Amino acid sequence: MASITLKHIYKAYPQTKEFKKKEQEEQHNIFAVHDFNLVINDGEFVVLVGPSGCGKSTTLRMIAGLEDISAGELYIGDVLANEVDASKRDIAMVFQNYALYPHMTTYQNMSYGLKLRKIEKPLTKNGKPVLTYDKELVKKLTEELKKSKDLQQKRELKLKIKEVKNIKNKQAYGLIHYSKEEIDEKVQNAAEILDIKHLLNRKPSDMSGGQRQRVALGRALVRNPKVFLLDEPLSNLDAKLRASMRNEIVKLHEKVKTTFVYVTHDQVEAMTMGDRIVVMKDGVIQQVDTPSNIYDNPVNMFVAGFIGTPQMNFFDVKMKAGPKDLNFTFENEESLKFNLKDFKTIEDKYINYDEYDVKLGIRGEHISISDKGLEAEITFVEVLGNTTNIICKLLNSEAEFNISIQERSTLKAGDKIFIKFEAKNIHLFDNETHVSIYKREDEQQ
Ligand code: ADP
Ligand code: MG
Repeated sequence: MASITLKHIYKAYPQTKEFKKKEQEEQHNIFAVHDFNLVINDGEFVVLVGPSGCGKSTTLRMIAGLEDISAGELYIGDVLANEVDASKRDIAMVFQNYALYPHMTTYQNMSYGLKLRKIEKPLTKNGKPVLTYDKELVKKLTEELKKSKDLQQKRELKLKIKEVKNIKNKQAYGLIHYSKEEIDEKVQNAAEILDIKHLLNRKPSDMSGGQRQRVALGRALVRNPKVFLLDEPLSNLDAKLRASMRNEIVKLHEKVKTTFVYVTHDQVEAMTMGDRIVVMKDGVIQQVDTPSNIYDNPVNMFVAGFIGTPQMNFFDVKMKAGPKDLNFTFENEESLKFNLKDFKTIEDKYINYDEYDVKLGIRGEHISISDKGLEAEITFVEVLGNTTNIICKLLNSEAEFNISIQERSTLKAGDKIFIKFEAKNIHLFDNETHVSIYKREDEQQ
């Protein structure tokens, strides 16, 4: 078990120009990962999510020690790990292509790494402990001897060292392989946890994708690592299997209680699996929070649009706000009026009756169909069984948006409807920076 701390971590790949610290600020796009700061708590399940190429795998590989860190500090537990060899980090990694050995059975695949591994163990001969002298004490005395300038003292120290070396009463340790029994116990334990005992004698070709992925997890689990790193482990599986393996991995985490860092481009995986989600874009962290906070309070338009399906709707509006009320005018000149107190806290600088161009974000499930409000025309209806997705356009406007309702609907393309939404569900973003204009929780009092 271990926490992981990333402090101002940067990664520049060799071909993206030579790494120069002073250029960090101006040239931030040369970095695959840019100023990454995160503390992953011991035992936590953290998901890194973002579109392909945003630096998720690079970050994970730096934690694993498979990739050099260009700048910044990586701690595993309290230990600065930048220079620690991958094999010494006590971290297990599971990849998208599970890379099992095709000619080996599940048992052999799971035990192979353990067979190669040597661990520090007490040495025995014929069942009896092998004894040695107090090496620590000899080391200490030898150091004293080196420092000493007094002839008499040197003589005494030499005698003492000789004496200590003659007393062999300490247990000797050595680097040796696991025994067959120890390996068997570990494999059986992991197989039990993952429910793959019945597959131990099968080869990868005789197993389904989900079973193979479970074996790959088992291979990582037998090592009893401090940290589990998983890089898109479910991407090769079909949708149904992905959903059930999501639960399996969450349950596995609950059982072993070690630190999990999970990488995916799939926001559903992120939302359903993580204690916390780290949303990344272009090598930069956008937001770190619990799934529900990310969903309810996205800090910018990127996070708002990336998390949630169907995607959040965005309208270009003109906003005018005073201390009591707030008015939006849409592209088609229609307006909606709200009480300011019904919103999350908006940055003070906007509350002055001036007109601001902003992006208004609203999720499809937060738009309701009503007998008054903004008039819209339905362009398309998708019936998804338990929900219905209605695609509309505001009257006299080209901007399309979706409404998702939790039931079958008889509405059809061409129908005219009125829509409304509540202030508490409205997201507002600066038109240029695309950053939320709500005060962040830590700024509100
Ligand atoms: P993700 O896992 O989020 O899809 P990666 O971490 O694999 O993204 O890649 C981040 C960026 O770094 C991408 O622009 C990618 O092209 C680049 N990159 C990744 N690996 C290498 C490499 N070995 N050499 C050069 N550039 C790389
Ligand atoms: Mg990747």
